[in-house]
Amino acid sequence: MKSFVFPEFQIIRDEAKCGQCRGCERQCAFGTHRYDEAQDRLISDDYKCVGCQRCVIFCPKDAIVVKPTQSFYRPNASWSREKLEDLKRQAETGGVILTGCGNDKPFRIYWDHIVLNASQVTNPSIDPLREPMELRTFLGSKPDFMGVEVENGDVEIETKLSPNLMVETPILFSAMSYGAISYNAFRALATAACKSGTYFNTGEGGLPREMREEFGRCAIVQVASGRFGIDAEYLNCAAAVEIKVGQGAKPGIGGHLPGEKVSAEVAATRMIPVGTDAISPAPHHDIYSIEDLSMLIYALKEATNYEKPISVKIAAVHNFAAIASGIVRAGADIIAIDGLRGGTGAAPKAIRDNVGIPIELAISSLDRRLRDEGIRNRASIIAAGGIRCSADVIKAIALGADAVYIGSAALIAMGCTLCQKCYTGKCNWGICTQDPRLAGRLNTEIAATRLSNLIHAWSHEISEMLGGMGINALESLRGNHDHLRGIGLYEWELDVLGIKGAGE
Ligand code: SF4
Ligand code: SF4
Repeated sequence: MKSFVFPEFQIIRDEAKCGQCRGCERQCAFGTHRYDEAQDRLISDDYKCVGCQRCVIFCPKDAIVVKPTQSFYRPNASWSREKLEDLKRQAETGGVILTGCGNDKPFRIYWDHIVLNASQVTNPSIDPLREPMELRTFLGSKPDFMGVEVENGDVEIETKLSPNLMVETPILFSAMSYGAISYNAFRALATAACKSGTYFNTGEGGLPREMREEFGRCAIVQVASGRFGIDAEYLNCAAAVEIKVGQGAKPGIGGHLPGEKVSAEVAATRMIPVGTDAISPAPHHDIYSIEDLSMLIYALKEATNYEKPISVKIAAVHNFAAIASGIVRAGADIIAIDGLRGGTGAAPKAIRDNVGIPIELAISSLDRRLRDEGIRNRASIIAAGGIRCSADVIKAIALGADAVYIGSAALIAMGCTLCQKCYTGKCNWGICTQDPRLAGRLNTEIAATRLSNLIHAWSHEISEMLGGMGINALESLRGNHDHLRGIGLYEWELDVLGIKGAGE
């Protein structure tokens, strides 16, 4: 059947520059470029291009430009091009439209409507190059009060402290499973996390055995509804355990790793047969109430000898703050909250683009709810879903988060161009694929260095911004809304964020 959908991109090759090396043909896993013997030149099929820009970057002659197509439908305010084409695609396939990455709709990005404070004459700013700045953060439950005994000048803490994760900087890598991403990408995240004093998250795909000894100390291992790859050794080799209840990109639904991506290694790590679809159910089939969740939290605490913090990850949806309060009361040490723009390897587009709330609003609501109930100290908050730069991190902390998870930002650091085709398994950048030819394109060491550089750069910028505010420890900024002001926001938005308008 002839497709009635336009190509999304237009490929322009400068014939005068092209040296016919056929590099673009080799680079594109979607078969966009082809050498035509009869014409003795490279030709391209615009319909196959996904806009990943791999050929543009790797063309040795800078001979290729990939642009959005010039073709257009008659403009219609109700029927945007995207709506029209999604409908046509469904008329052609009869299927659900899948996509990757996070929500790309023009919902308000609150980070860009919030400005930070800076010291002037009084409470002078601090120069982070000359003064120590404390970004170290402890994630986990803190006691209601601290009992100490002082004997002969020695201070001894009497209160039994809960296990906490220590991060050198408040930036952790989001859950990305081995299977959804390549082994090289997974290992790069682990290497960078250990090097940077932070943590990576296994997602629901398990942790390959050969990585446990070296990287377990920097791993947060997930327990998701599919329960893939979980045994006592998996839980105990890690620094923390996270129960995944929901995910910002697809709240309320499960996951699906197609059989083609379940290689022998992925299968061994997930403890499932090679080539079978790995389907995570929407709910955990043993959790239908807060009490059930509490039982799982304590089962995991028992299994890990009460030595690891237990995190619960939920998606930010309506009334989530009340649910999160119940989760804290159920015994969780960390609440990971994933907002509307959270990324994914694969999700139905209708869900990704229409379900959930922005993380900025969610952080503030959750922090306020836990403070109002007097239980804020019982759990740390990790915010996820749409963190793009160091300024977003510091604003998230000021709104009430203890730390953030970054997913898309980490992938971009490794080379991802947000082409949204992760679900195809043909990632030209070697990130979201199990094809050995494509996965081999990602050099683990180089990718790990790029990730560590990113963490280092952001941490430095956070120190600078903190110093500018006259603050020398991140702890002093947490939940301190007075350092934030809103610009161009409605009254209700300022209310939910708990911040004043600029100039107030
Ligand atoms: S990679 Fe560049 S130089 Fe090589 S064939 Fe393609 S367009 Fe020509
Ligand atoms: S990981 Fe690869 S397939 Fe997914 S958006 Fe990035 S470049 Fe595209």
